[in-house]
Amino acid sequence: MRKPIIAGNWKMYKTRDEALQFIYTVNQAVPSIDEVETVICAPAVLLRCLVKRQGDHLKIGAQNMHFEEKGAYTGEVSPFLLKDTGVQYVIIGHSERREMFNETDESVNKKVHAAFKYDLTPIVCVGEKLQERENGTTNVIVDAQTVKALSGLTKEQVKKVVVAYEPIWAIGTGRTATAEIANETCGYIRSVIERVYGKEVADEVRVQYGGSVKPNNIKELMAQEHIDGALIGGASLEAEAFITMTNFNK
Ligand code: PGA
Repeated sequence: MRKPIIAGNWKMYKTRDEALQFIYTVNQAVPSIDEVETVICAPAVLLRCLVKRQGDHLKIGAQNMHFEEKGAYTGEVSPFLLKDTGVQYVIIGHSERREMFNETDESVNKKVHAAFKYDLTPIVCVGEKLQERENGTTNVIVDAQTVKALSGLTKEQVKKVVVAYEPIWAIGTGRTATAEIANETCGYIRSVIERVYGKEVADEVRVQYGGSVKPNNIKELMAQEHIDGALIGGASLEAEAFITMTNFNK
């Protein structure tokens, strides 16, 4: 049985006061870690303040990192520094980073390896553009992104990766993929992992869906065979909505 993982991606939102208010509200109200893994991925400057106050059932993650441990990389944050801050997860290769900050499959792969080196769980994002969905190349795109992102990992490492399938046309648009479409592509990603790493690994790896997940659609999405979690942007900013979504199975 794969444990569901619900992760919020705050992007470039929230002040320190807002983050504190959120965490004090949410800490007590998320489900037990034995049932559901709950993660908040916050801007780098908020991570320490959240880690210090996280409750037993809430985990904290970063939204990006450099792949080097240290060096002259002005403005970057290393996996080593994230680990030192106490975070346990890191989003890698979000489509906004691929589109606006020159993230490539190669840098995604380096970052995934770096995450394992520092014992951070990578949430690796893949997903097609609207045009790719429309011209029928979704599977080709997510296949290549998945294979390249995970290249060189051991089977044991791949089992620990969280893959987030996020169709770009559904992110922040209010246009969610139907549960059927989301499940189909998440299942396809699982089949890619099976092809490369075998069935045992594919059965264990968790695949999230992301893109306009809201309190009113999460139940249906989570009921799908191949959807093991959600990566939630906009709707994760509001404490009550986030609490509702983490309790999707109640
Ligand atoms: P959204 O963002 O939920 O606001 O569509 C999802 C994401 O970018 O991870």
